[in-house]
Amino acid sequence: MTTLAPDTLVSIRDLTKTYVQRRAFSGTQFTIEALRGLNLEIRRASTLALVGESGAGKSTLARCLGLLERPSAGEIWFDRVNVLALDRRQLFPVRRRIQLVFQDPASALNSGMTAAEILEEPLLIQYDLTKAERHRRALDLLDEVELPASSAEKRPLDFSGGQRQRLAIARALMLRPELLILDEALSNLDLATRDSIVDLLDALQAEQGLTLVHVLHELRLASQLASDVAVMFDGQIVEHGSADRLFSRPEHPCTRALLRGFRSSQEAPEAMHVEALG
Ligand code: ADP
Ligand code: MG
Repeated sequence: MTTLAPDTLVSIRDLTKTYVQRRAFSGTQFTIEALRGLNLEIRRASTLALVGESGAGKSTLARCLGLLERPSAGEIWFDRVNVLALDRRQLFPVRRRIQLVFQDPASALNSGMTAAEILEEPLLIQYDLTKAERHRRALDLLDEVELPASSAEKRPLDFSGGQRQRLAIARALMLRPELLILDEALSNLDLATRDSIVDLLDALQAEQGLTLVHVLHELRLASQLASDVAVMFDGQIVEHGSADRLFSRPEHPCTRALLRGFRSSQEAPEAMHVEALG
């Protein structure tokens, strides 16, 4: 047994991920430690920004937490179950509850399928629904992410980048996950699209207690999106706290460095959202 606060959805303990690489010319092997004994707790129905410079290990953590990649060592507790101790069959129902959206939706969506087929596919595996019921749910989700019903028969490449990301998010929401991880998924969107997706995610959080993790490489969006911020450096979480506290009293040098970058970007007219700066 493990002791967890009642509102903890995810508890990550001593997580390690090592990649073995081979040098191009000599062929000798070397290892990359993408995660080095990482610890992190995520509260149910919270919004966490996971922030760190490129190469810090954020996407590796996102893939491990999203059950797409197996860590080398450590524990990932999801709703009081250590998912790394489960076999494939036991993991199957957990997969439905955790969804991951990537930065580049084009690579994540099958370009040969229509939007309706893309949205219906997860239901095919998980539920015993009729074709008409699956289609109805697909149309409902298109509506939820503010894509017109006429887009049901379009294919991913017929959409604009922003619409494609709406489709990728719709697909991730199809099975009503409890944890949604967005790996830089909103970073490249225009402001109007981003705002409307943030509104949708906020509504789902209020209605269904959805837990959100936004993976970001800088602090600019963190303040707009998240109540909590975890700063990652070199495969570990070096600081974790409320967004307000991190912005007003950063403790770790990495957080301070990210904050300096953020403040200089504040001089650009687009980003004027943070009150906590004082
Ligand atoms: P971030 O998302 O914070 O930029 P990543 O998780 O993508 O960081 O990468 C962390 C480290 O792990 C980097 O040094 C990267 O080169 C390495 N890495 C990530 N994925 C792989 C992989 N599939 N094979 C080998 N090395 C990898
Ligand atoms: Mg990344």
